[in-house]
Amino acid sequence: EVDWFSLASILFLLMFAPLIVYYFIMSCDQYQCSLIDPLIDLLTGNKHLSDIWNKTPTLTYRAASIYTLWVAFQMLLYLFIPDFCHKFLPGYVGGVQEGAVTPAGVVNKYEINGLQAWIITHVLWFANAYYFHWFSPTIIFDNWIPLLWCANVLGYAVSTFAMIKSYFFPTNAEDCKFTGNFFYDYMMGIEFNPRIGKWFDFKLFFNGRPGIVAWTLINLSYAAKQQELYGQVTNSMILVNVLQGIYVLDFFWNEAWYLKTIDICHDHFGWYLGWGDCVWLPYLYTLQGLYLVYHPVQLYTANAIGILMLGLIGYYIFRMTNHQKDLFRRTNGNCKIWGKKPEYIECSYMSVDGSKYYSKLMTSGFWGWARHFNYTGDLMGSLAYCLTCGFEHILPYFYIVYMTILLTHRCIRDEHRCFSKYGKDWKRYTAAVPYRLIPGIF
Ligand code: NDP
Repeated sequence: EVDWFSLASILFLLMFAPLIVYYFIMSCDQYQCSLIDPLIDLLTGNKHLSDIWNKTPTLTYRAASIYTLWVAFQMLLYLFIPDFCHKFLPGYVGGVQEGAVTPAGVVNKYEINGLQAWIITHVLWFANAYYFHWFSPTIIFDNWIPLLWCANVLGYAVSTFAMIKSYFFPTNAEDCKFTGNFFYDYMMGIEFNPRIGKWFDFKLFFNGRPGIVAWTLINLSYAAKQQELYGQVTNSMILVNVLQGIYVLDFFWNEAWYLKTIDICHDHFGWYLGWGDCVWLPYLYTLQGLYLVYHPVQLYTANAIGILMLGLIGYYIFRMTNHQKDLFRRTNGNCKIWGKKPEYIECSYMSVDGSKYYSKLMTSGFWGWARHFNYTGDLMGSLAYCLTCGFEHILPYFYIVYMTILLTHRCIRDEHRCFSKYGKDWKRYTAAVPYRLIPGIF
């Protein structure tokens, strides 16, 4: 059943999320990244909506060609080049891996080759920038708004296709979730793991390829634009490139682990993931770099070091917390966390077919500090990205506001699910670890 609050939020997002993305990108293009000035212009009658719209670059043949080539290239890397990185990188888990058991009892196989796709793409990018010169490294920035229209076309097309597919030719009918509410189903998805053929998995591809591989390229394109405009790249831009680069590389290094996260394990594939991965992620997660093209902030060395430390400590907490849970679950608790045997609560749950299963919830290490300390680390890193931009405008701070809402909502959503799954055992766990994000506060 869909409650009225979920429905209202979904309708709000369906109507306004594309406008929010447009507003942010337009305000950089036309108002030097001021979020207030367009509003003042509109409210005072200085400008009409049509004036702003008419100044907005339209879809171009060049952007459509770049985007088509980009997605086709990522598909090619995803589908046709089996992973070779795991053969020579010690500790890296790649190649064919299994996902978690779905509610219908299916275990999907995935070809984990994202790191390889990222490396090949970036080697080609640098080879072009320094040697071949087929295109300018500012190409992404220079076509940013026309590319936005292409990303929207793909985002809507893939979400609509996923919806139609779930009715007429689902990959696994037993893993479909129909609520009967059209908007909810469109947004949150019906099929759990839609696939075409044996290997083209919508969730893994759209979550983990065109948008996330592009993330670091987009930042590099912004750095190249700064170089072109001002003859130098600022330390703030370098910080954004380095900190977000670490986050993206971490994602690919741990792609096999990612198969066990909420996005892949619990979310169905709809507009939220389809459009979100194509549009929301590449456009709004990269706002700091975009802002720095218009406002080339040069940080005092002490501030730059402080921000770097915040970002690195945040990353360390994020990675170690995720690693502790992964190790604990993989070894079924037979491991050492901070040099000691982990403490945990034994719990049980029933699957849809009525079978009883057992699981464990860790209560030591970072998981003893708070129930979602991995999110806390993520938020510290997110704040560091924003701080690189100084305090002149609010636009770059959108990311930390959004991540705080996203991860707090995720906490609540996940805990609701865990409570339904584990019942009284979950209550024992929340009594043992009473805080969600910040020990002693929340
Ligand atoms: P988690 O990795 O925290 O996974 C939550 C699940 O872990 C629960 O549903 C439960 O699953 C299990 N679990 C909960 N508590 C314990 C415990 N004490 N011991 C063992 N298992 C436990 O959440 P996510 O998948 O959301 O996040 C993964 C990472 O991805 C996070 O670091 C997050 O910050 C990041 N992320 C980043 C986003 C971005 O846009 N940048 C978006 C979303 C996430 P079970 O049913 O198996 O018990």
